[in-house]
Amino acid sequence: MTIRLRTIWDVRAFSVTLTTLVMIGTLGLQYLLIEPDIAVQIRWPGMLISFILAAPVSYFMGLRMYEIHRLSVDVKHAAKHDGLTGLLNRHAFVEQVKEMTQHPGVLIMADIDHFKRFNDQYGHATGDLVLKKVAQIFLSFCRADDLAARFGGEEFMIFLPDTSLEDGLAVAERLRKRLGRDPISHEGQSLPITASFGVAVLDQTIQIEEVIDRADSALYDSKHLGRNRVSAAP
Ligand code: GH3
Ligand code: MG
Ligand code: MG
Repeated sequence: MTIRLRTIWDVRAFSVTLTTLVMIGTLGLQYLLIEPDIAVQIRWPGMLISFILAAPVSYFMGLRMYEIHRLSVDVKHAAKHDGLTGLLNRHAFVEQVKEMTQHPGVLIMADIDHFKRFNDQYGHATGDLVLKKVAQIFLSFCRADDLAARFGGEEFMIFLPDTSLEDGLAVAERLRKRLGRDPISHEGQSLPITASFGVAVLDQTIQIEEVIDRADSALYDSKHLGRNRVSAAP
């Protein structure tokens, strides 16, 4: 049996339960091990001592268990998410898409255009701001079951389950336009962001790795055609 203390109220309930059990145990032991007439006399002092010892110790134990729970939640979250943008990381994204095989859909891959220039001209911190902004915009396009990931440096991926290629292309196009309308500001300057997109269909007949390759080559078609556009995988 694993006891998980998820909130501070769980800690209090754990402490009260443990303290009560210790007090009842102490009372029982007194009657079992000591002459009944003496046990009656030391009943209240015994209970008081067990309360004074058990209450803080059980509360302290509870707090430690709560901390361990919080840490394990943080570690699990960090293992699955990108630290900068908060989106899923590549590994977690692929695993979660694999678990959704009963929902064929589309993968939209995006790569920010000339991203290196943001770093080179305005500094790495501005580059990071661009990544965060793009991530927020991508997330805002996601429905409850959609998955969004930061796939690499300035590459992002979205999985839209139960979506046709046509609808996936329309979403990518709306995303592309939305990015274009939303420049970031840096020292009073407005810096436009654009991205190139590749869209590919994912169904039960092909492996996700192969669909990622297809989305990637569609994305590179967009790059070669001049960037800031959407291409479909054949
Ligand atoms: P293209 O239009 O062909 O995609 O050109 P690009 O400049 O976007 O692509 P390139 O691959 O030349 O550069 C990507 C840059 O992204 C290089 C790398 O230093 C930067 N980068 C990767 N991860 C991060 C990050 O976490 N923060 C910041 N600020 N930059 C990053
Ligand atoms: Mg890239
Ligand atoms: Mg790029």
